[in-house]
Amino acid sequence: MLLGILKETAPGETRVALLPESLKSLVAQGIAITVEAGAGLSAGASDAAYTEAGATVTADRASILANADVLPLVNAPDPADQAQLKPGAVVIGFLKPLDAPQALAAAIERPVTLFSMELVPRISRAQSMDALSSMATVAGYKAVIDAAGLLPRLFPMLMTAAGTIPPARVFVIGAGVAGLQAIATARRLGAVVEAYDVRAAAGEQVRSLGAKFLDVDLGGIATEGGGGYAAELSEEALDRGRDLIARTAAHSDVIVTTAQVPGRPAPRLIRRDAIEAMRPGSVVVDLAAPAGGNCELTQPGVTQHLGGVTLLAPLNLAAAVPVHASQLYARNILNFLGLIVKKGELTVDLSDEVLAGACVAHQGSPVNPRVAKLLKPAATAN
Ligand code: NAD
Repeated sequence: MLLGILKETAPGETRVALLPESLKSLVAQGIAITVEAGAGLSAGASDAAYTEAGATVTADRASILANADVLPLVNAPDPADQAQLKPGAVVIGFLKPLDAPQALAAAIERPVTLFSMELVPRISRAQSMDALSSMATVAGYKAVIDAAGLLPRLFPMLMTAAGTIPPARVFVIGAGVAGLQAIATARRLGAVVEAYDVRAAAGEQVRSLGAKFLDVDLGGIATEGGGGYAAELSEEALDRGRDLIARTAAHSDVIVTTAQVPGRPAPRLIRRDAIEAMRPGSVVVDLAAPAGGNCELTQPGVTQHLGGVTLLAPLNLAAAVPVHASQLYARNILNFLGLIVKKGELTVDLSDEVLAGACVAHQGSPVNPRVAKLLKPAATAN
């Protein structure tokens, strides 16, 4: 069995799917590993380190694509790469199957088996494979660090002979994995932190990190969808949140906003008036930018200066911390590989709930019902 590690080609991508340190248990199972030259460089892993770990390094990307039985990746391969994959191979990565299923059509037809890390069920057995949480953790941290770097103020309260500096005020919207890490990071830097989430269950976690949880009376409507995620709210319920956010923004130096509803565009929670009410020099980091953004002024991927307020809308903040983002991702991938590689042999058993949940396509057909539905019009047209 041959496992391939490719250099990621998406613009701005710095992560790699497996690091040299991840290879030990695979090599011990007799798996041959080929790495594209330079694959790990931006994540701090040299070609020599992969060679020392037992892999073969080659500049011949096409031969890896054509021969690998298993390809763990960070991002989906582009259609030209997909067309070269070995039929029957297994590809694993952040494949965006619900956002861009058509972009996977060439691989599905090849056919290869596609597993999407976004679709790994959030059950306790699969926690060690939860790459979304790993990346959200990194992004939540980095959002606060970036905001602190740009803010023309200090974060901690300082009592000096020259007087007292008050602490920065940070407002975190959406207290899921990224939001909680943002709260913890801002608290460590000494900021006073407030947070808002529609899920009441988030309140206890927010308070346990030393932040204040802001409650909005939504009239008892259901705010939780399935799997601990938020439900999509009505415009009326969203408006109550928007009002609270505008009031809180007026006294906040930094906003880190992370609110998302799986499979839906991010809720627009921060109105123009909220940004206009902020003091010059304030910083907003919209981590929901990949899903369109939480602020109505957000332009995904673009940093804007709006009347003295800096609005950042990063599309891949985890890639700004490539070493640890790759390390966490590689561990998630390695744990996932444990489900399909047994004693050096590839065995895909879709009766396993985790594999069935994460599987996008197998043997030429979509497995995930949502992906099948999204691809159906195209299939009918053919
Ligand atoms: P996410 O990225 O989908 O959303 C981020 C946060 O935004 C969530 O807390 C959500 O409630 C909030 N949000 C959505 N709409 C909002 C709105 N209109 N206003 C304010 N906030 C809004 O979520 P996530 O960070 O991936 O995780 C969400 C939940 O899943 C959390 O409870 C988390 O603890 C849980 N989780 C469970 C597992 C597991 O393995 N069981 C793993 C990871 C996360």
